[in-house]
Amino acid sequence: MVRDGFEELVALHDRSSGLRAFLAIHDTSRGPAFGGLRRFAYRDEKSALMDCLRLAKAMSMKCALAGVNGGGAKLVLFDHPGLDRAAAYRSIGRSIERLAGRYYAGPDVGTGTAELSNVAFETKYVTHPGPAGPGDLPGATAAGVFAGMRAALVHLDGEEAWEDRTVVIQGLGSVGQRLAVRLIGLGARVSGVDLDEATCDRARGLGVEILESGSELDKAADIFCPCAMGGLLHDLTIQRIAARAVCGAANNPLARSHHAERLHARGILYVPDFVINSGAVIRGAGFHLDGRATPLDEIEARIGEVTTDVLRKAAEEAIPPFVLAKRVAEQRIRVARNAADSERQSALGAGDAPRERATAGDELTTESTSS
Ligand code: NAD
Repeated sequence: MVRDGFEELVALHDRSSGLRAFLAIHDTSRGPAFGGLRRFAYRDEKSALMDCLRLAKAMSMKCALAGVNGGGAKLVLFDHPGLDRAAAYRSIGRSIERLAGRYYAGPDVGTGTAELSNVAFETKYVTHPGPAGPGDLPGATAAGVFAGMRAALVHLDGEEAWEDRTVVIQGLGSVGQRLAVRLIGLGARVSGVDLDEATCDRARGLGVEILESGSELDKAADIFCPCAMGGLLHDLTIQRIAARAVCGAANNPLARSHHAERLHARGILYVPDFVINSGAVIRGAGFHLDGRATPLDEIEARIGEVTTDVLRKAAEEAIPPFVLAKRVAEQRIRVARNAADSERQSALGAGDAPRERATAGDELTTESTSS
């Protein structure tokens, strides 16, 4: 927590529903924290906690790069056969309500309309899945990832030329499938894999060539698009990638940060997840903070512009785009933190009337910090 600047970590347990969960709030100095609810059959507490922390920090970075006045958080809950799902999500809703707007929850792996409806029974600080909410969030994510792909192709070849492109998608769920439809509509050849048979059948019906599971990395393509789970890019998989660029929705696809260097060394353009998969948080935050769900074309334009900028500047410095984007995001978070700290300190100073204000500035700083 200290190293990465986390503000809060809460462990939740609800006896009657069997809920066990972690909530991490990374940073709120730019505004309230946004982050999805992930339900997953984690191997153990440590892996759940690490996933929670990494995802919460990635949300802060997404917000910082996308210019969202918010920060990052994540809630992960253990899926297990004894979990009373409806009751567990209502219990989560009560916990979120107690935070009084410091954290807004949204969808993620394992949490869709039914689960969010249960949360919404207990709190308004959740992205409502129905007509009262901001609308199609996976569509917003897909729009941003598409903008990232476009920027990557223009960066590599100076043009999009979709009719000559091949894209391989890993994970043909909500986001992957929307991307496939868009790309096929533009004339690209799209192939992909999914662990779920019915999902594969649906994608095949849309014109996706279904590959043998496990062969997606080896297929020559312009873009490999990870839209399943994180952590798939590591020492063993990176050497197999036959695509020219990696650009997808999956959060934290790099097993470790240094794998960005490995991709770079292999001449594969890796477009960082947190630069391009912020469509849903842009739309959701717009809805909650400004009363207006950000339109898809605005999301596409904003993410396209940021990606183009990141790729260009990284090329100028001859460093991986991941390194540059992380540096920019962390710098923006740091600046917001410093501003928030100064504001807090001047508020304390103002409240403490003439005596403190008459003393030296350093003294005031020391007192405020230790209080
Ligand atoms: P989803 O659950 O709808 O789809 C994921 C699909 O991946 C499922 O169909 C699943 O069967 C498949 N899958 C899982 N493991 C796989 C594997 N090893 N190989 C092949 N297929 C596999 O999820 P989604 O909403 O489409 O999100 C996809 C990814 O994008 C997730 O990592 C999510 O965290 C990330 N993301 C989503 C959004 C959003 O708005 N939905 C926003 C930001 C990031």
